[in-house]
Amino acid sequence: MGIFGHCAVGLAAKPAAPKAPLGVLLLATVILDVLATAFGWVGIEGVKAGIPWSHGLFMSAIWSVAAAFLVARIFHDQRAGVVVGLLVFSHWVLDFISHPIPFSSFSWRSWQWSYGHPLPPDLPLLFAGSPKVGLGLYNSISATQATALELGMLVLGAAVYVT
Ligand SMILES: [Zn+2]
Repeated sequence: MGIFGHCAVGLAAKPAAPKAPLGVLLLATVILDVLATAFGWVGIEGVKAGIPWSHGLFMSAIWSVAAAFLVARIFHDQRAGVVVGLLVFSHWVLDFISHPIPFSSFSWRSWQWSYGHPLPPDLPLLFAGSPKVGLGLYNSISATQATALELGMLVLGAAVYVT
């Protein structure tokens, strides 16, 4: 899923963790993508290696628990820690539903990505070589529909946040 869909969850979670800054909640929802970018730079993730360290089910659980402990410590708030841990893991759940995303063939000009040849799942359960999963929602809906879905989620999340 893209950044809007993930951030929507962070906005909606604010009432559950009033003491945690919104920025921390939003960062928690996209931290796996931040890690993927960083791991791509250092070369341990990429087109060939896949994304087991940032988006593997096992490592996602590890990052979630680590984030929970870190935030609980920093803010002296167990509740904030639990919420942040769940937010980090919500990223994996949303990606599990939406991945694989045919971004490689996305055209900004036509706001379209190609379908007709579904991509294989790209979220490993463990590490390299382990089975990969993903329900592939974004493989079966158009880029416009996906964008509408994410903006809809963002509006809902913002509505929860302001009320
Ligand atoms: Zn992701």
